Amino acid sequence: MIRRLTLLAALLTPIAAQAFTLDTAVEQGRLIRGQTTPNAVILLDGKKLPVTPAGKFAFGIARDATGTISLSENGTVSVLPIAAQTWDIQRIEGLPPGKVNPDPEGLKRIQQEAALIKAARAIVSANTGFAEAFRWPAKGRISGIYGSQRILNGEPRAPHLGLDIAGPTGTLIRSPASGRVVLAEPDLFFTGRTVMVDHGYGVGSIFAHLSASSVTVGQEIAAGQAIGAIGATGRVTGPHLHWGVYWGAITVDPRPLMPTPMPEPLP
Ligand SMILES: [Zn+2]
Repeated sequence: MIRRLTLLAALLTPIAAQAFTLDTAVEQGRLIRGQTTPNAVILLDGKKLPVTPAGKFAFGIARDATGTISLSENGTVSVLPIAAQTWDIQRIEGLPPGKVNPDPEGLKRIQQEAALIKAARAIVSANTGFAEAFRWPAKGRISGIYGSQRILNGEPRAPHLGLDIAGPTGTLIRSPASGRVVLAEPDLFFTGRTVMVDHGYGVGSIFAHLSASSVTVGQEIAAGQAIGAIGATGRVTGPHLHWGVYWGAITVDPRPLMPTPMPEPLP
């Protein structure tokens, strides 16, 4: 009898409608920011996502992700297909050969530095900068886009997972959203002087090839606050900012987060 009543109750329970909204399409290379009800339980592919007290959450889709994602909201599951993107090919010549084919010492450095970056990316804090309207971090010419297959000095290499903004050395770089500095290194093998800002809930920014920076790890950063200056340190052919946005281990495209076009002058 009890079992029968439980079954009846289940049959009478209305099918809960999906209440969450996403700010962009589910596509390769996207940072997706969602809104749900406060205290909702959100699972992405079965793993719980942190949700802010106001019901905001975020996740990333990798450049080469395929298939579907499943989003569960308080037990109601939505299966969403991942739309494919097409990526450019970018050829760069004139890089120092040792930066394209590092020697054993270089490879050792690269491994150690990758561990530092991985640790910084693993931070999941309660900052809510990730949910802000992002602003341009620097003014200049877009010289490289996210996703491009790279051919460096004629050799195929890993795709480019950031946005390059070329400008004169010394051009100020401003944080696109608020957060906290989680890495500040003067000279990494590939990325030169490098700063990482955690925007919270697994989302952060990496700023590479800087000529100067005075921020320190642990420092709170306001949206628009200067965190350094454009330079040509690390593996580059000329001065530019490489700006990457990540959600944990997944690097996403910064460009769709930005207002179009680049305002002049920057606010
Ligand atoms: Zn770059």
